Amino acid sequence: MKASAIYCVNMVDCIFCKIIRGELASTKVYEDADVLGFLDIKPINPGHTLVIPKQHYVNIHDMPDSLVAKVAVTAKKVADAILKIGAKGVNIGMNNGAYAGQIVFHAHVHVMPRYGNDSFSHWVGKEYDGNEREEVATKIRKQLNLPT
Ligand code: AMP
Ligand code: ZN
Repeated sequence: MKASAIYCVNMVDCIFCKIIRGELASTKVYEDADVLGFLDIKPINPGHTLVIPKQHYVNIHDMPDSLVAKVAVTAKKVADAILKIGAKGVNIGMNNGAYAGQIVFHAHVHVMPRYGNDSFSHWVGKEYDGNEREEVATKIRKQLNLPT
């Protein structure tokens, strides 16, 4: 079994559901009826927080829009708090799907404090070839029911 497959589980075995049920320890920083925020166990910097829906969803693609909004607003609140305690900037990100680096298959948003000298590097952009940019934009617009 691949290491990542360990996390491909139902909500009974899901580690984040266990945290929500209080069966696994966590360091909580935010909680309301629908959303929980707790510190990542392996932070890129101290204060790195995971914001999750309390209900089990695999990732953003199966979450209702209203819950995506609640999680996003909570991530912003946590990011504001992180700035107030001294971070110089905050990255907010979400890995959706194994190919995007998701290893825990309970939807979660990373709120990551940044400092000037933290050696956490940005991704490097590629160049488009030929008509690739227009072609991919056309395909996306079509999926979004916008004029191509
Ligand atoms: P992702 O690659 O987006 O699925 O990231 C999953 C994150 O969950 C990683 O940053 C892990 O360090 C974090 N993580 C895994 N288990 C726990 C846990 N028990 N408590 C807090 N964070 C965890
Ligand atoms: Zn879960």
